[in-house]
Amino acid sequence: KIETTAVVTVIAQLVQLMIKRKGNKSSCSPLLSKRIILGFALRPYKMSYREVKFFSFPGELLMRMLQMLVLPLLVSSLITGMAALDSRASGKMGMRAVVYYTSTTVIAVFIGIVMVLIIHPGKGSKDEFTKQQQIEQVSPADAFLDLIRNMFPPNLVEACTKQFKTQYAKRVVQVTLTVNESIFTVNGSQEITREEMIPVPGAVNGINALGLVVFSMCFGLIIGSMREQGQPLKDFFDCLNEAIMRLVAIIMWYAPIGILFLIAGKIVEMDDITAMGGQLGMYTVTVICGLLIHAIFVLPTLYFVVTRKNPFVFIAGLLQALITALGTSSSSATLPITFKCLEENNKVDKRVTRFVLPVGATINMDGTALYEALAAIFIAQVNDYDLNFGQILTISITATAASIGAAGIPQAGLVTMVIVLTSVGLPTDDITLIIAVDWFLDRLRTTTNVLGDSIGAGIVEHLSRHELQNKDPETGNSVVEETNKKPYQLICQENEYENERPPNSETKM
Ligand code: ASP
Repeated sequence: KIETTAVVTVIAQLVQLMIKRKGNKSSCSPLLSKRIILGFALRPYKMSYREVKFFSFPGELLMRMLQMLVLPLLVSSLITGMAALDSRASGKMGMRAVVYYTSTTVIAVFIGIVMVLIIHPGKGSKDEFTKQQQIEQVSPADAFLDLIRNMFPPNLVEACTKQFKTQYAKRVVQVTLTVNESIFTVNGSQEITREEMIPVPGAVNGINALGLVVFSMCFGLIIGSMREQGQPLKDFFDCLNEAIMRLVAIIMWYAPIGILFLIAGKIVEMDDITAMGGQLGMYTVTVICGLLIHAIFVLPTLYFVVTRKNPFVFIAGLLQALITALGTSSSSATLPITFKCLEENNKVDKRVTRFVLPVGATINMDGTALYEALAAIFIAQVNDYDLNFGQILTISITATAASIGAAGIPQAGLVTMVIVLTSVGLPTDDITLIIAVDWFLDRLRTTTNVLGDSIGAGIVEHLSRHELQNKDPETGNSVVEETNKKPYQLICQENEYENERPPNSETKM
């Protein structure tokens, strides 16, 4: 009976989805409620773990398809983005992006701290929480060095699958003790053995996005500066980028179905939320309020102040990306859809999206920063630990660093939170107190992260409009539309150098 009802509901949903998809290419928001309803409708059937996994299978497929495209998309978009701009324009655009990322992350951390201090969700004792698994310890200094190490991967092929991570091993050391003659009868020095923990090189699975971003940016800049010599490589990556975007367009047809199963599957699987403790409930509400203030008030206001355009029209164009972020919990996996929404619905210049979006998806995580600061202070409150101003400042700085270091994958923020807790001496094991709700809050903070990156692209485009206007506007279009036009770099180069070079001379680097 369970199977028949589930199958019938699912088929009905699919048919509806396909009809809707045919009628309106970008509509997806009304479907969100249906995904949630489907999940709740199936909850009374109490599916087994295996059944839930079968049910979520179409969603898992979407996740895999999107992840498949992340690596080529990230590399090709950054290389073409950097190569299409001269170093001065990309420098200015980069500065604007960095200022935007830093200021919005700082605002997000501030909102998180203010919210948790005002609402104070952590009153009471720790007894109402159920502790789960052990948390691996990380020293903040090593985590910070790992972040820098990961920027420079020694092996590019390995960077596509692994990240560097310091691990800890025990070492036996001989310590020489000099014993004072007047107190002890033993005279002279004595050797004792002691165990100490030492950092050793290690690796974790997952794409080293930071390393690839740094490499692709430098590589793109160099290709751009090579002018005619760099043209074949520029064309290659341009074409690769376009081909990947066409694959994204195909996957977008499947996306509503995949997201339906991702969200409904998670709702079927989740524990009973009504059994959640009071403190954890209040904590969840605090995080939601903080994220909402940042996403619905701060970011749109910033967009309006800078561009004088309606931010909600801009956000409406992003709905599919936001729902994908909600479904996948991963800003990297959402990246392909974010590109499509920004370029096609919001008509943001490709030179901006190619440059700003991959970097944003890797380092700009407002939702994660807000969450980490808020969660750390919540854990302090639960432990009855009074934080002074210096410690709150330390939490803000480490939460910002932790959000930069967090990968755009599900629940990455929970892992980097160890750094924030260690920096102020809070028990790292207490991360397990909030694990129960993290899957849900992760979806919300990922959506905020994607919104922050997208609004950033809109703002950077507006601020860079003069530089972009000076260049060939056609490069903002796709390669296919560009086929009959002269490549951008050649045009701009001729303009720049026409007074300096004799005509027809060859550029030698
Ligand atoms: N899942 C988040 C993202 O992909 C990262 C996090 O765990 O906060 O943006």
